[in-house]
Amino acid sequence: MAKALIIGAGGVANVVVHKCCQHPDVFEEICIASRTQSKCEAIRASVKDPRTKITTASVDADVADEVVALIRRFQPQIVINVALPYQDLSIMDACLATGVHYLDTANYEPPEVPHFEYSWQWAYRERFRKAGLTAVLGSGFDPGVTGVFSAYALKHQFDRIDSLDILDANAGDHGYPFATNFNPEINIREITAKGSYFDGGKWIGTEPLAVRKTYDFPQIGPKDIYLLHHEELESLAQNLPGIQRIRFWMTFSEKYLTHLRVLENVGMTSIVPIEIQGQMIAPLHFLKAVLPDPASLGPRTKGKTNIGCIYQGVKDGKPKTYYLYNVCDHQACYAEVGSQAISYTTGVPAMIGAMMVLKGPWRKPGVFNVEEFDPDPFMEQLNLCGLPWVEDFSPVLVD
Ligand code: NDP
Repeated sequence: MAKALIIGAGGVANVVVHKCCQHPDVFEEICIASRTQSKCEAIRASVKDPRTKITTASVDADVADEVVALIRRFQPQIVINVALPYQDLSIMDACLATGVHYLDTANYEPPEVPHFEYSWQWAYRERFRKAGLTAVLGSGFDPGVTGVFSAYALKHQFDRIDSLDILDANAGDHGYPFATNFNPEINIREITAKGSYFDGGKWIGTEPLAVRKTYDFPQIGPKDIYLLHHEELESLAQNLPGIQRIRFWMTFSEKYLTHLRVLENVGMTSIVPIEIQGQMIAPLHFLKAVLPDPASLGPRTKGKTNIGCIYQGVKDGKPKTYYLYNVCDHQACYAEVGSQAISYTTGVPAMIGAMMVLKGPWRKPGVFNVEEFDPDPFMEQLNLCGLPWVEDFSPVLVD
């Protein structure tokens, strides 16, 4: 039995807390911490009959010393970082200073530059290895389950994977003309960035949202999908031996993209601060403040998500295709934990990853992406913890 410190008190943290409390045999005690302790208290109060002891704290995780002090007070075995990508390095520093395992769901991004990559966190490998501590990077759904699916496909279905298409569909409708399903700032920074994919050992760049196709998703139907750069492409290109092509696709409705284009055209997605009535404010921060809080979308969102991976490769000398995916229902998630499916599909794998470290199968010294661990115990827990997976051995391919 162990203690976990959960940093962040947004939609994803809410799911992590509820899911930890469903496993009191692993999570004996948890502490929820963010800058605003009242948000942590609200999550604590929303858990009915918790069998895990829950406390809350205030911490500014941009300041490693504050996290160190909290860890020393609470004495957890692992920190589950579900704050924002900006805090990854300061929390990793605090884990090293106190001898505690680390897990997150998004890779580091400097606040002043809309650019994410793993190099900053991979630079901690030697320090975690020497300290005998485990750092698990990107244990959400994508990144996260998509990496576990890939390790599973390679272990059980293929001798060699040649190509991978990651497909992320959200057919949920929240009834607002425009809102983002997770942190608007992180979401808009990701979508308005240039796209890229891996092909023949090289990275090919594309203009933002320039490549569009249509895909007929199981249990959802046909949707427009757009090619994006996404963080797991970087680690999977290294960790799937011989892979030739990896692409990431996400669905967006025409309505969503029209709003985004207008906001971009009028300068509202810029992260460069401008002076307004004596105050320096980044337009994107202002936009975040006027958009609906993603956590408030839960009760309104109806429909399903479908996130999965289509593999093409070779098994026993013959070509093979294989599709692994999960379908998640927004309202079923809300009924269970009080969050919509985007938060649910991120929070459940974060809890499972922490469980894997605490129970032992994923405990090894160093900094790792999820596809570098044994996928089997994680895949088993996905089926038990609300994210069952479906296999299709003759899927329609993305042309
Ligand atoms: P929210 O914006 O809802 O929540 C973020 C939380 O972080 C807030 O509660 C905020 O609370 C806290 N926070 C922000 N800055 C600090 C700080 N300096 N110190 C302490 N706490 C801080 O985001 P989500 O819950 O939607 O997302 C959480 C994470 O999950 C993000 O990193 C996101 O990128 C990632 N994600 C990953 C996905 C995946 O599949 N891998 C998919 C979706 C999201 P306060 O203001 O009180 O500090």
